Amino acid sequence: MRALCWHGTDDLRVDSVPRPSLVNPKDAVVRVTASTACGSDLHIVDGYVPTMREGDVLGHEFVGEVAETGEAVEGVEAGQRVVVPSFIGCGACAYCQDDLWSLCDNTNPNAEMQEPILGDSTAGIYGYTHAFGGYAGSHAEYIRVPHADENCFEVPDELDDTQALFASDAWPTGYMGADFCDIEDGDTVAVWGCGGVGLMAQHSASLMGAEQVIGIDRFPERLNAAREHAGAETIDYTEVDSVVKRLDAMTGGRGPDACIDAVGMEAHGTGVTHAYDRAKQQFGLHTDRGEALRQAMVACRKGGTLSILGVYGLMDKFPIGVLINKGITVRTAQQHGQRYVPDLLDLAVEGEMDPSYLATHEFALEDGPEAYRMFREKEDGMIRPVFRP
Ligand SMILES: [Zn+2]
Ligand SMILES: [Zn+2]
Repeated sequence: MRALCWHGTDDLRVDSVPRPSLVNPKDAVVRVTASTACGSDLHIVDGYVPTMREGDVLGHEFVGEVAETGEAVEGVEAGQRVVVPSFIGCGACAYCQDDLWSLCDNTNPNAEMQEPILGDSTAGIYGYTHAFGGYAGSHAEYIRVPHADENCFEVPDELDDTQALFASDAWPTGYMGADFCDIEDGDTVAVWGCGGVGLMAQHSASLMGAEQVIGIDRFPERLNAAREHAGAETIDYTEVDSVVKRLDAMTGGRGPDACIDAVGMEAHGTGVTHAYDRAKQQFGLHTDRGEALRQAMVACRKGGTLSILGVYGLMDKFPIGVLINKGITVRTAQQHGQRYVPDLLDLAVEGEMDPSYLATHEFALEDGPEAYRMFREKEDGMIRPVFRP
């Protein structure tokens, strides 16, 4: 089969690779019908993320049709259309039982690569380095899905593949970030970042009853999408002297009740990277990214909530005193997709929320390298590229 593979920094190729087969009795093999890329994939392509190996298949957000199932799979059948969260859960460990799926204890066979850095290991994830399990990714014609009963969610007939695709990652991540804010009527929620995850966080916050949602970015198309689809007001941070002062002015001097950082989302998984070389480049990245997070901490009202969807490795000048003195509650996680996907699919069927506006551009797998180049440059107003293998 064809797959978009990593061959080193800025070197993506469409290779012919063996079609995945069932390895364990609880596996399914899914024929991918749509796959998308997020900022974290860019960091892999750019060579910032260690523990990739030449020939690894990229991609962790996808929807598809079940091609075959192992003999121990009970609730999933060949021919079903399914969406699959990017983090792989086993459904049986204490974390999965607690609905903390990205913390699954059983799906990362390379736990020892994370433990020296994190003290523990996360769940495995498709197409995202060997430290995160070394699973082959979704920019391919077929993908192996372990623990199929826990990870395959049937897509209702009312929804097309594009609507369901974002339930794989961007949507539940953004929704979880808003959920962390315990939004009450009258609340103001500010979201740094109007990419896929940021827009989903804004949209979800609006749906959860926030009176005022404010999206912060610099790309006009993304700010447009925030206003048009996500129910947000916007701040172009290149056009104001101080985002914090602007937010104060928009909230009667109090500051937002909750602040969501969806800028570093693209960096998810980089927690392990600092122990490796390229630390200097990484530091450049993280110093940049820290700016949004620091702004969010300072802008947040006293006693408010800071919800971090952007994942950081190390950060210098992290003003923890701001959190302490203002009594700010911090909530954060990699997405616990399995907890949210059924509700999100219901919302889409009911017409309450449709994430398909994230899909601004479509590509064949063969155009992968060009798609990634455009995505990196955010060319032509791209929010998310969608691959149709
Ligand atoms: Zn992603
Ligand atoms: Zn588990």
